[in-house]
Amino acid sequence: MPFGYVGKILHVDLTSGKIEVEQPPESFYRTYMGGSGLAMSYLLRMMPAGVDALGPENVLVLSVGVLTGAPISGLSRVMANAKSPLTGVIGDAQGGGFWPAELKFAGYDALVITGKAPKPVYLWIHDGEFELRDASHLWGRITGEAERMIREELADDRIQVLQVGPAGEKLARIACIINMSTRACGRTGMGAVMGSKNLKAVAVRGHARPDIHDRDKVRELARWGRENFEDSGVYSMSLHGTAAGIDNLQEIGGLPTRNWSSGVFEGWEKIWGQTITDTILKDRDTCYGCIVRCKRVVETKEPYEVDPLYGGPEYETVAAVGSYCCVDDLTAIAKANELCNKYGLDTISCGAAVAFAMDCYENGILTKEDTGGIDLCFGNAQAMVSMVEMIAKREGLGDLLGEGSYRAAQKIGRGAEDLAVHCKGQDFPAHVPQAKRSLALIYAVNPFGADHVSSDHDPSYEPTQDEDTLGRLSELGLIHPVHKHDFSPEKVRFALNTQYAFSALDCLGTCLFVWGPSWQLYDMNQLVEVIQGITGWRTSLYELIKVGQRRLNMMRAFNAREGITSADDVLPKKMFSVPLKGGATDGIAISEEKFLAARKLYYEMAGWDEEGVPTRGKLAELGLDWVADLLG
Ligand code: SF4
Repeated sequence: MPFGYVGKILHVDLTSGKIEVEQPPESFYRTYMGGSGLAMSYLLRMMPAGVDALGPENVLVLSVGVLTGAPISGLSRVMANAKSPLTGVIGDAQGGGFWPAELKFAGYDALVITGKAPKPVYLWIHDGEFELRDASHLWGRITGEAERMIREELADDRIQVLQVGPAGEKLARIACIINMSTRACGRTGMGAVMGSKNLKAVAVRGHARPDIHDRDKVRELARWGRENFEDSGVYSMSLHGTAAGIDNLQEIGGLPTRNWSSGVFEGWEKIWGQTITDTILKDRDTCYGCIVRCKRVVETKEPYEVDPLYGGPEYETVAAVGSYCCVDDLTAIAKANELCNKYGLDTISCGAAVAFAMDCYENGILTKEDTGGIDLCFGNAQAMVSMVEMIAKREGLGDLLGEGSYRAAQKIGRGAEDLAVHCKGQDFPAHVPQAKRSLALIYAVNPFGADHVSSDHDPSYEPTQDEDTLGRLSELGLIHPVHKHDFSPEKVRFALNTQYAFSALDCLGTCLFVWGPSWQLYDMNQLVEVIQGITGWRTSLYELIKVGQRRLNMMRAFNAREGITSADDVLPKKMFSVPLKGGATDGIAISEEKFLAARKLYYEMAGWDEEGVPTRGKLAELGLDWVADLLG
C-alpha cells in the first residue's frame, strides 16, 4: 500500500456510462504529486487542441494531492481542471472543505470525466464502489436543496456533495463547482463544463484513512502548528476571516473600487472583516482537519434575509460585489454571496461583471432599457443584488453578464470593451496591480488568466517586512527585497520563483493560508518535511519546485497548442492609460514599457521562447519530452 495517496484513479465516460479504475505506478504520483499537475498529464494526453470547452470532448479532472486527508491543517483541497469556456485555454480552480478528504477516504485520488451523459446524472462513490445515478429530480435545484436530497436519498447525512448549481446547468461561463454549498472551485467556468456534461454532482463517502509513513513526524508538525498558530500571519483570518486585511489594502491603495478606477473605498470600514465579526457573524467554519477556521457563517434578517447554510463572504467576494461596485451595505454583500453559492457562480467574476455593467451604465453605454428598468449606478446595493440574481437565473441583462464581462463587452460594443478588466477573458481578482507590481506581470502571463493565488504578493518582499517573512522567502533564494512598486529584474525573479512554489501547492492541494513561502503558518521547508512524513519519499525543496515548474510548463504547453502567443499575455488597456484616483496609488498607472520588459525577462528566466512557449530544452529538463513532442 502506498503512503499518503490511494493509488487509484477513476475514469468516468458519461456518454457510455462506463467507469474504469486505473492504478498508476508510484513514479506517476511522485512526478506530479497530485492535483492540477496530475490533471495536466491527462488533459494533454487525452484532449486534442481546438475542442469545444462546452462539448463532450472536453475532459474534466477533479483531483486531490498526495497529502490530502492527512490529520494536519490545510491539506483538504480539490482541484478542477478542463479547457475553460471562459478563457478558451486551460482552466483551473481550487476549493476546500471536507469533500476533498472524503474522496480520498472513499478510495480515489482523482476522477477523469469524459463525454456527456444522455440525461442528468450524479456519481456516487463510497468505500471504493461507484455508480452513476439518475439526477433528473435534482436538475434545476439550488445547491443546498440538492445536497439535502442526495443525503436523504442515500440515507447518510455525512456524505459530502460536490456539485453544480442552476447557473452551471445553464452553462453560465462564470459558473463554479461547489461543495458544502459554500466551498467553490470558483474560477475559469469549471461549473459550466460540469453542467455541459449533464453531471449534477459527485457524492462521496468513505472510511479508509490514507496510510501515513511517519506518524510521529506528522504529529510533531501538527503540534508545532497549534503552538505557533496565534503568532502566525494567518491568525487574523481565524478571527475575522479573509476580509481581515481590508484595512491594509485600503492603506496601500490596493482595494479595487469603482470598477478598478481607484484603489481606495470610502466605505471600507463597513465591509471590513472586523465589521463582519461585530455585526452579522453567526459562526466560524473550517475545512477538514484545519485549526484555522477562517470560513465565515453569517445570518441577516433585514433588509436582506441571508441563510447561514450558504456560509459568508470571503475577502474576494466582499470586494467584488462590494468595493468594485461601490456598495458598502454588508447585508447586500452577504445576500449576493448567498445567491452565488445557491446558484453556483464564481463570486469574483459575478461581482466584476456587475461592476463592469455599472461602469457601462454610468457612461451611457447601457441604459434602463438594457437593465430592465434597474438604476444600475455605482453604490446602488439593491441594483447590485438584483443583477446578481439575474445573472444567477440567466435573465435579461444577467444572461449576457453570465458569459463574463469580456464576452459581454464584445457583444455590447460602443466602447464597453475598454471597461472590462480581465486577462485572457478572466476578470481580475481583488488585488490592485498598480499597488502590487508583480501581479501586473502574473495576471498577464498566468496560463488561466488573472489570478491572485498563483504567486506571492509584493508586500511580503519589501525591505520593511518582518524578519521571519523575509527569512522564509530566503529559502527560495529571494534575499534582496524591493519596494512593492518596484518592477526591476529582482521583482520578476520574486514573481517567477514564488509562482513555482504556489504551483507546487496546487499539485499537493495545500491551502495557501496554511502552507507557503512567506507569511503562512508553515514554511516551504516544513512542507517538505510533511511530504516526507506522509509519503516516506526522500524529497527536497528542489524536487518540490520542479513539481511546480512541471505543472506551469504543461499549462503553457496546453495553451500554446491552442494558439496562445505573447499577444495574449497582456493587461487591459485601462491599466496603462488610466491612472488610479485617490489614496496611496493616486495618479499611478502601470508603465507599458516596464511591463513589456518584465514580461520578456520573465519568459527568458522561465526557459520559454519569445512567444512564451516552453522550449524543448526546458520541457526535457522537467522530464516532459512527451509534451515537447505534442508541440511538434
Ligand atoms: S485556512 Fe481556512 S481555507 Fe485554509 S484549510 Fe483552513 S479553514 Fe480551510
